[in-house]
Amino acid sequence: MSILGNYINGQAAASQSGRTAPVYNPATGEQSLQVALSSAAETREAVRVAHEAFAGWAKVTPLKRSRILFKFKELVETHADELARLISSEHGKVFSDAKGEVTRGLEVVEFACGIPHLQKGEHSMNVGTGVDSYSMMQPLGVCAGISPFNFPAMVPMWMFPIALACGNTFVMKPSEKDPSTSIRLAELLKEAGLPDGVFNVVNGDKEAVDVLLTDERVQAVSFVGSTPIAEYIYATGSAHGKRVQALGGAKNHMVIMPDADLDQAVGALMGAAYGSAGERCMAISVAVPVGEETASRLREKLVEQLQKLSVGPGIVDGPDHDMGPLVTREHLEKVKGYIQVGVDEGAELVVDGREAVIEGAGDGFFLGGSLFDHVKPGMRIHREEIFGPVLAIARAESFDDAVAMINDHEFGNGTAIFTRDGDAARQYCEQIQVGMVGVNVPIPVPMAFHSFGGWKRSLFGPLHMHGPDGVRFNTRMKTITQRWPSGIREETNHFTMPTH
Ligand code: NAD
Repeated sequence: MSILGNYINGQAAASQSGRTAPVYNPATGEQSLQVALSSAAETREAVRVAHEAFAGWAKVTPLKRSRILFKFKELVETHADELARLISSEHGKVFSDAKGEVTRGLEVVEFACGIPHLQKGEHSMNVGTGVDSYSMMQPLGVCAGISPFNFPAMVPMWMFPIALACGNTFVMKPSEKDPSTSIRLAELLKEAGLPDGVFNVVNGDKEAVDVLLTDERVQAVSFVGSTPIAEYIYATGSAHGKRVQALGGAKNHMVIMPDADLDQAVGALMGAAYGSAGERCMAISVAVPVGEETASRLREKLVEQLQKLSVGPGIVDGPDHDMGPLVTREHLEKVKGYIQVGVDEGAELVVDGREAVIEGAGDGFFLGGSLFDHVKPGMRIHREEIFGPVLAIARAESFDDAVAMINDHEFGNGTAIFTRDGDAARQYCEQIQVGMVGVNVPIPVPMAFHSFGGWKRSLFGPLHMHGPDGVRFNTRMKTITQRWPSGIREETNHFTMPTH
């Protein structure tokens, strides 16, 4: 079986670590390849290469950097189907969803193409008499990215296009569950004209990550993954003097008000809860109907829709299924375990995805959609992120109860409210302690030119991903205050505080 290695200094580099992890095709359950788990020394070598490439890349003008990204954008568009197939074959998500992921990643590349404008800095003339002040947004040096399994193209593309556009070099450590897409993106970057050493991929696990968190040549670390690891990344990277943005897990609630268009809400909920088999950090995993009548109507419609949910392999001849398999057998067992936990703690299992008959499932890691009702705060299936096709209905008596339930939760990534009442929506947006809010929009992922990030234990660090925060994160501001000798007509007293 072939071993997928690294991509360092513009070429494939086999790992000599002797450690590997299996990569599966989740739709068949078969192992498709092995991925190298790089040693600390190999990771340090990638950092060294990126560090060496920095001086040259930082000097390339923003316009030229942007032109390489324009070319990269064109190449990703040309290879979009190939990339989507690669994603689907290692992650399991259906082809149309995988293509959507590539598009959302491309939007960040498009944003980064505007870097000559984005990196302009500020200028003030006459901050004092004859004194001007301006800022430079300079690159940091070597930046590192560590990504999760659920978006093998989009999440790396949240990170590296802006870092590279700003003049940094990069070491990417993708998820060991679906590592091939990052390597393919590295090849496309080279084809687009990116100089060797500017973008490198190191496959691995904690051993590689720990080098990225502690090596003094790494200036900044972008992480997306589960909350315990995000917290570790933030604490360790910060303790070693790096700037860190670490995005963690989620439990996203959707409030359905009594006046909502219920058919619209249910349609939105089905996609948001079960799309990508629920393996999205912005998936809605808790529906919060307000009032008993709304709850009963919602439940009835959801059960009806769940009978129609089509589950199957990600790549098929003909129309896509609604969702594919879970990423690994281990994850499948974990999600099934959570369904049992919900039953044991007294929630009502209305639809049991474990019993779904899935055509062509074979040994793939498939699970049908599940629905719980009467889920209460405090239950583990409400507190913890399941990351699978399991939707919970947690009934609220009033708008205030719904808000309190969500604000009490440890996560604050995304949320939505479905209503026709502008006043309720406005109050919701103001009061809710969550980073990304949708009004009649189930998955409110901000576009590339806005920034993406949650609150509470869904994000560690002050700056969100991509958009204006992405440019701030990837640059260091220097402010120059200048006065020219020809403007000095008289001796000034240097001993008092200048007040201009
Ligand atoms: P994970 O935390 O297991 O892994 C993420 C990355 O961390 C991988 O590259 C992995 O190799 C590395 N890693 C794992 N254990 C490590 C350790 N002990 N030390 C150092 N590095 C380690 O996450 P996952 O299962 O791949 O992804 C799913 C999680 O990601 C979910 O919790 C989901 O909510 C979250 N996620 C969050 C966002 C967001 O924007 N907030 C987006 C996507 C995914």
